[in-house]
Amino acid sequence: MSGPTQNGPLLKVEDLRVYFGKARAPVRAVDGVSFGIQPGESIGLVGESGCGKTTLGRAIMRLLPVHSGRIDFGGQDIAPLRDRELRAYRKNVQMIFQDPYGSLNARMSVGGAIEEVLRLHRLGDRTSRRKRAQELFQAVGLDPSYMDRYPHEFSGGQRQRIGIARALAVDPKLIIADEPVSALDVSVQVQILNLMKDLQREMNLAYLFVAHDLAVVRYVCDRILVMYLGKIVESGTPEEIFTQPTHPYTQALLSAVPDVDKGLKARHGGSDRIVLKGDVPSPTRKIPGCPFHPRCPMAQDRCRAEVPEWREIRPGQWSACHFAE
Ligand code: SF4
Repeated sequence: MSGPTQNGPLLKVEDLRVYFGKARAPVRAVDGVSFGIQPGESIGLVGESGCGKTTLGRAIMRLLPVHSGRIDFGGQDIAPLRDRELRAYRKNVQMIFQDPYGSLNARMSVGGAIEEVLRLHRLGDRTSRRKRAQELFQAVGLDPSYMDRYPHEFSGGQRQRIGIARALAVDPKLIIADEPVSALDVSVQVQILNLMKDLQREMNLAYLFVAHDLAVVRYVCDRILVMYLGKIVESGTPEEIFTQPTHPYTQALLSAVPDVDKGLKARHGGSDRIVLKGDVPSPTRKIPGCPFHPRCPMAQDRCRAEVPEWREIRPGQWSACHFAE
């Protein structure tokens, strides 16, 4: 597989759907998502748990089957490929998990785990793989003399550094990071996020950063996608999303983040927090009109009947709300 074209997006997702369960009443975990990622760009995917963001990340990685839609990478649609055909793609697109401990083999040394990735991708010989693992250890701020130790001998932050080193081993262009810092202490979170930012700059890496924590995506991302019930409901730069959110769901998420624009709170009767009614509805349920209307504090009759159009509200900022203005 060739790399991405020079000016086009690195990855382009079109009308992607991931359904589970019975054909008559499927769980629509991802329900018609489209977006692109440019080389070196960092995109944050946010939403409550159950909104479909982790499923979307895993479907793009092709760890889950795709119901319909396209995942274009380097001019090739990845969505219909089978396991063996995905090897080249998986060299270009790697994943970092929330719990690196779970994805590291407890009985394999951490250096061995990195060398193993290189071996699986048929890269180098034993000596060059060892050397590459040492370089990667250094790149993520770990002493290469620790390479023969086992996962349980490291702290959570160090293990995440190992997870990052392993993802970088095959020189990917895109990393899908699924809640990579949510299990870490706040001070360690910042160190890992700074490391990820530095590596991005040095290697022109693109990130798809799946996180429930808006402060985290604000810190690392160029663009934010807000997801609700399997759909993207708003997208924009962190500045736009944080200071001029147009979708009531984004506004509700932001109201739970400390220090966000006081004006937003004022618009909701001065309350500190916009409390949404009920939980995220079951993704098996077909909701007429706007999927957010059962919980939206601003819902009107039109919202119950008419699906809001996905439209550009300001240059670069898109929203799916009838009253986004
Ligand atoms: Fe709320 Fe209506 Fe906008 Fe949907 S379209 S987010 S229900 S105001």
